[in-house]
Amino acid sequence: MPESATSAAPLSGGDFDALAKAYGTPAYVYDLTRTEQAYTDLAAALPEGSRIYFSLKANPHPALVRHLGGLGACPEVSSAGELDAVLAAGRPAGDVLYTGPGKTSAELDRALSAGVRVLSAESFADLERIGAAAERHGVDVDCLLRVNAPDAAGGSGLRMTGTSSQFGFDYDRLVEGWPAFRPPARVTVRGFHFFPLTNARDETTLLGEMAQSVRCAAELSRRLGIPLELLDLGGGFAAPYAGPGTRPRYPALRAGLERVLDEHLPDTDRRPVLAFESGRYLVADCGTLLTTVVDVKESKGRMYAVLDAGINALGGLSATGRVLPADIGPDVTGMSGPERTADLVGPLCTPLDRLARRVRLDGLAPGDVLRVPNTGAYGLTASLLGFLSRPVAAEVVTVAGHVVEASRLTLVRTTEGEIQP
Ligand SMILES: *Cc1c(COP(=O)(O)O)cnc(C)c1O
Repeated sequence: MPESATSAAPLSGGDFDALAKAYGTPAYVYDLTRTEQAYTDLAAALPEGSRIYFSLKANPHPALVRHLGGLGACPEVSSAGELDAVLAAGRPAGDVLYTGPGKTSAELDRALSAGVRVLSAESFADLERIGAAAERHGVDVDCLLRVNAPDAAGGSGLRMTGTSSQFGFDYDRLVEGWPAFRPPARVTVRGFHFFPLTNARDETTLLGEMAQSVRCAAELSRRLGIPLELLDLGGGFAAPYAGPGTRPRYPALRAGLERVLDEHLPDTDRRPVLAFESGRYLVADCGTLLTTVVDVKESKGRMYAVLDAGINALGGLSATGRVLPADIGPDVTGMSGPERTADLVGPLCTPLDRLARRVRLDGLAPGDVLRVPNTGAYGLTASLLGFLSRPVAAEVVTVAGHVVEASRLTLVRTTEGEIQP
């Protein structure tokens, strides 16, 4: 463990430099102390007794799953690999909510034999496949029906429902189809699942969407005779991404939600367990990507800083058209020299490998280690890990300045005999 990383204080610039030296770059550093703070903040913003699901999509690192699990979060997974990460973290499959629009029969078999018993169903056919798998395994499972609610409240980050969507049952289709549908014998529908938006713009938007979901669930329960025991209102809790900034707080959300429940589900004895999901809010700000400047060069009046981390390590999703904010945040304070800007580019042989445009680069030189903050969510595993066949960035987990584990994912080619259908 690097000397300077052993203090109890949060990681300092010197600690990060020591970690870069010890583990090389690119490297992600995840500070579990911050994850814990995020969980505490989120729990405080939600009604008492709410269940919080951690969406592994944001970051499936087992240390995060284990730590959040220890605090009380349940895992929300959407693939066999995410389920493996839960098991590797020593968390029980019985706590898992299994979601996603393309659950195959083979995948369901694996999930049920691992002990998963709560799933979100995305369509009538999905519900039937879940039922058939439960039958094969001789087990009973609980399902939530994921609903694409009508006329959602308004502007947001990335809309997932409300309009045409590959996710969930359209409200109208569910209402039309349910009376004639025979739910599979081993499936009990316990309630509804909504996930109308991600990265909400503000607290009002968030509360508006959740209120709409509660209203919709109450109505569906009444119209279809489905008891409302578990109500997953999704999330949308925001966090900064790969740039400076802090997580928002939601000081009015708890009271707002309680008002909404009083209005739409007035019978307090028969209130459902409320569930919420979050990826980015819980883990975004625990992560810092360390990357080294390999080269600084000029081309026709424009500066380029070539880093050892590109879209193979960060922002792979941005290669589909989104470019990171220009304030990607190398910590340049204290650097001298004339103020200049440069594009931050990665080492991959494609002009798409650009992490940021026109970043201030006072005196930046090869060998400098940059710190990209707020990269704990949608960082490494949302990137193009296999492209250009570079080693995957190391991942270092710290608690109060101490390194507790370090590892590196690898892509391994198996032999033909090891390929499972
Ligand atoms: C992506 C996703 C999440 C997590 O979203 P965040 O914005 O990271 O909180 C939760 N639930 C579902 C169903 C998702 O698709």
